[in-house]
Amino acid sequence: MEIKQGCVLRVNLSTGDVARESVQESHQKLLFAGRGLALAYLYSEVPRSADPLGPENRLIMVSGPMAGTGAQGMSRWVVMTKSPLTGLIARSVVGGSFGAHLRFAGIELLVIEGRAAEPVYLYIGEKTVELRSARDLWGLYTDETEEKLQERYGKKAKAAIIGPAGENQVLYAAILHQKRAAARCGVGTVMGSKNLKAVVLDVTPRKIMPARPEIFREALEEQVERLKENPRRKALSREGTAFMVEMAVELGMYPVRNFQSGKLEGVENLFAESFQKFKVRNKGCFHCMTKCGQVYRVSGGPFRGIESEGPEYETIWAFGGQVGNTDPAAIIAFDRLCDQLGLDTISTGNVIGFACELVERGILSSQQLGGLNLEWGKVDAFLELARRITYGHGIGHLLGRGVQRAAEIIGHGAEESAMHVKGSELPGYDPRAIKGYGLSYATSNIGGNHMYGRPRPEIYGAKEGFGWTEEGKGEMVARVQIRQAFDEVLISCGFGLSGIDDALLSRLILGATGWDELADSGEWDKIGERIVTLERLFNVREDQEQARDSLPRRFFQEPLREAGLSTDQVIHSLDTLLSEFYGFLGYTAQGIPTAERLHSLGLNCFDGEGN
Ligand code: SF4
Repeated sequence: MEIKQGCVLRVNLSTGDVARESVQESHQKLLFAGRGLALAYLYSEVPRSADPLGPENRLIMVSGPMAGTGAQGMSRWVVMTKSPLTGLIARSVVGGSFGAHLRFAGIELLVIEGRAAEPVYLYIGEKTVELRSARDLWGLYTDETEEKLQERYGKKAKAAIIGPAGENQVLYAAILHQKRAAARCGVGTVMGSKNLKAVVLDVTPRKIMPARPEIFREALEEQVERLKENPRRKALSREGTAFMVEMAVELGMYPVRNFQSGKLEGVENLFAESFQKFKVRNKGCFHCMTKCGQVYRVSGGPFRGIESEGPEYETIWAFGGQVGNTDPAAIIAFDRLCDQLGLDTISTGNVIGFACELVERGILSSQQLGGLNLEWGKVDAFLELARRITYGHGIGHLLGRGVQRAAEIIGHGAEESAMHVKGSELPGYDPRAIKGYGLSYATSNIGGNHMYGRPRPEIYGAKEGFGWTEEGKGEMVARVQIRQAFDEVLISCGFGLSGIDDALLSRLILGATGWDELADSGEWDKIGERIVTLERLFNVREDQEQARDSLPRRFFQEPLREAGLSTDQVIHSLDTLLSEFYGFLGYTAQGIPTAERLHSLGLNCFDGEGN
């Protein structure tokens, strides 16, 4: 097998050792690149029961095999680690230009291990890789840090940075790069635990030569032509994902007040049109003509002058419906604040809604809140709570553990209000209205997540009630998870690939990488299935109880209220949903991959014990 990619750069923060290694061929042969390759390293190197915040954990950053080639929407990057929030596997996908610059530096996989004795950043230049003191950067917001690093190294330097949330070990801290976040699963917390403030790539952009230039050139021309005219691409350029708010409300799947209802008075203020009046310009990732990023600036009122890239759908929900707020300017302010502090907006909004519900239920007292008024819609108090979470002040210290741990500590039935799967706070789709999404949340190996497998066929058939049925969802959800996993081998962006079919994608891969096995679309499902199965093995090896596929009890016991089309929907049987899913993937009734299936996927070399 011809290997076309870069090297593994391994950095040990405890010893300061830096090594360039070849990519392990056996890993590459099975799991190829991107998320698959990072997973193979993580599985092999992180010992079972390793403390996610200890030196044994690995923080892996990986670029895609087409990053920097000119292929559109192919320059994103992935972070993988063991999550401190869930105790299970973590993967977070992010945009910007860091992925392309990893490739310009000749790095396919950056593996960070150990823990520095004091704050450092990792500097990667043309000829130098070294750890440099970050004493003067520690404590700064992410945007301040980025500015300082660019003053030092110039605008061409690209950095991945944590904010105070990662430094202070909030369990859902993010890694920021150019105001885009690797947000979920606490990847920024792991970076903070290693005393690593930033990774700086100070390399000159260069042309990554395609392996088969003629094939690549023709495929790229066709991709660009198709994207130019694609209506979905145009809509994303115009509005980003804000358009989904109206759709979710119309279909009765927009959760309100911590999933207690589907009705938010004044929700039309959060539709895409409302955000358009704040729009300043578009911003996009490296080599992406879709440029779905919307830069907004607030020109009046209490949030005057605040500028943010985004919010996108999930953040509009997290600081909108989830907390009972309909002021778009407050959402822009929340988005900006979370980016500066290095917080995951989904988890933070979910946690705030959880706290509001506990106040409503009389479980949290005003004494515990330290003077904060946590009634629905009180955005000033919520922004202050985000700061207290970051700095561990008062109730913020507890809420910085995430809803699963906070509920366990609070007791008094608080777990009934904790809307999470496997410890990861749920995003903004109500699974009672769209049950395949519920199944995808439940079975996601990284915990509650909207991007582990997005059941598009169900969303587009939702008006006809396709979302309400429980039968016939298992295979569909398994397939979308498998496809998502394959797409993240390429680390392609679903938005940036609007209108691009598999035949064209296959030609792009072949032209860019020359990798016949990867370009063979007949193999894609097998590669994707290996990834979701190995991620499951990682989790089962760690903690079978925490890894159990489940959903919050609310979705079985409380029919959805005031949710238009989806009013009164409830999940009757998770077992029905799970048994089809397990059956399709060859898992046991407990959701564990069988030896036969592992063998057929070629995964039996991963022994289940780890190092
Ligand atoms: S569509 Fe948006 S998120 Fe995707 S690559 Fe382009 S700019 Fe980045």
